[in-house]
Amino acid sequence: DQINHFHSRLLAQSHKRNNTNVVFSTTKLFIDGKFVESKSPEWLDIHNPATNEVIGRVPKATHEEMLAAVDSCSRAYHTWSETSILARQQIFLRYQQLIKDNIKELAKLITLEQGKTLADAEGDVFRGLQVVEHTCSITSLMLGETLPSITKDMDTYTFRMPIGVCAGIAPFNFPAMIPLWMFPMGMVCGNTYLLKPSERVPGCAMMLAKLLQDAGAPDGTLNIIHGQHDAVNFICDHPAIKAISFVGSNQAGEYIYERGSKNGKRVQSNMGAKNHGVVMPDANKENTLNQLVGAAFGAAGQRCMALSTAVLVGEARNWLPELVERAKGLRVNAGDQPGADVGPLISPQAKERVNSLIQSGVDEGAKVLLDGRNVKVKGYENGNFVGPTIVSNVTPDMKCYKEEIFGPVLVVLEADSLDDAIKIVNKNPYGNGTAIFTTNGAAARKYTHEVDVGQIGVNVPIPVPLPMFSFTGSRASFRGDTNFYGKQGIQFYTQIKTVTSQWKAEDASLKSPAVTMPT
Ligand code: NAD
Repeated sequence: DQINHFHSRLLAQSHKRNNTNVVFSTTKLFIDGKFVESKSPEWLDIHNPATNEVIGRVPKATHEEMLAAVDSCSRAYHTWSETSILARQQIFLRYQQLIKDNIKELAKLITLEQGKTLADAEGDVFRGLQVVEHTCSITSLMLGETLPSITKDMDTYTFRMPIGVCAGIAPFNFPAMIPLWMFPMGMVCGNTYLLKPSERVPGCAMMLAKLLQDAGAPDGTLNIIHGQHDAVNFICDHPAIKAISFVGSNQAGEYIYERGSKNGKRVQSNMGAKNHGVVMPDANKENTLNQLVGAAFGAAGQRCMALSTAVLVGEARNWLPELVERAKGLRVNAGDQPGADVGPLISPQAKERVNSLIQSGVDEGAKVLLDGRNVKVKGYENGNFVGPTIVSNVTPDMKCYKEEIFGPVLVVLEADSLDDAIKIVNKNPYGNGTAIFTTNGAAARKYTHEVDVGQIGVNVPIPVPLPMFSFTGSRASFRGDTNFYGKQGIQFYTQIKTVTSQWKAEDASLKSPAVTMPT
């Protein structure tokens, strides 16, 4: 009935739009296998970004509710960590199928709460689903190592063991993918999980929890709390929580990394970005311009891997007018409208911030070649829309270059050579993603080796690695030393036990105590 509840939220929205009375749905907590109404006196509104109508409310969980959630995780850990790996694998095999069966429903919820287009929302679910599919090979991923006969009759082997209760704190921009980077990886390793979704888009995580329960996950293996700073502090401080996975802004991520680490927890913190697309004059022009436009303005630029900065090298600077033409062709509309390319931003505050960063460029001498600030979307006049915007003549000292804009804005710099472009990219503090567009293999190789960025695309604008690899943002885009998903994700969610054993025949027993260090 939690899913029906989500449907009623979708209906609630259409009632409101037809000016009939509407009853707001409340987002439940998920504690010990039950979807429960919070007793909190403090609630936050959830808005549809395309209309700014209130579509529901989410509680700031009380301290008692958060304690109940973590206690449930602790209790469940005793049995879940001892559940056979094959049984855990079966649950995730069922889970991936249930996600596939419900991908359209999940996408509708994402579009309603987050604003991105339905097709893009399906992509959001799909990229998370791939991580769930990957967890199904846990029987290989969790293998330890063995070395026989390290000395006479002695063998050494390792086990990968779970670490306990783990927690995830998620951002608003990928309501499905990012929670799915977190709890499936943690749980399949034998940990139990406490998730705090973004308070702006909690619905999708709740539906994912329901599907996981339907797949057979025992009560208490996943608990969900809602809230903001108090919930985050609770997670950073509670001694039962052994590891925190965070994805979001630098402001929150640095804080969580420091507070969680001080309390002795493992923390992996994926944060903000400024991703450069370096365009060489020998690049395939048609392909490159289309890729740039898609990667800059898709999801209204609200992706940590959005290609938000173009560096046009040499003659490629002449491609600007064509770039502008292509961006003009994108359709700005509510995410559930047919043909929409660019949906709204998450909030009026986000829109305000993006508009002011565009203005800061103008004030500092940049040129706005395409201005999306006054875009009007018929029927959605109150939505948080900003149309595709291209700002040229940008230099590295400008605010619009230094700050992550997180909106449909492409800032354009120019460079005389590949070396100059590499210098620009390496001087920027962020190291999340970058791409080079070229038909020259030597230039591509030079770029991939010399650029100090964790994820690099060669003629690939958004090089988010598939889950058999890891998400390897670096420098100011990451704190911690073990990345999300892939082998590193398994490493993050497990600890190693190393066993050295000796089995010798009776007659080979020691004849006297050995008091020297064994060698
Ligand atoms: P956010 O930091 O505002 O929120 C993320 C989470 O942290 C939420 O659950 C929120 O409740 C909590 N939070 C917010 N402010 C906090 C604070 N001051 N102290 C403690 N907790 C706080 O991020 P967002 O706006 O939801 O997401 C956008 C940001 O996330 C962008 O900077 C984007 O680049 C980044 N992001 C990074 C990646 C990545 O993998 N590197 C992926 C997606 C998004």
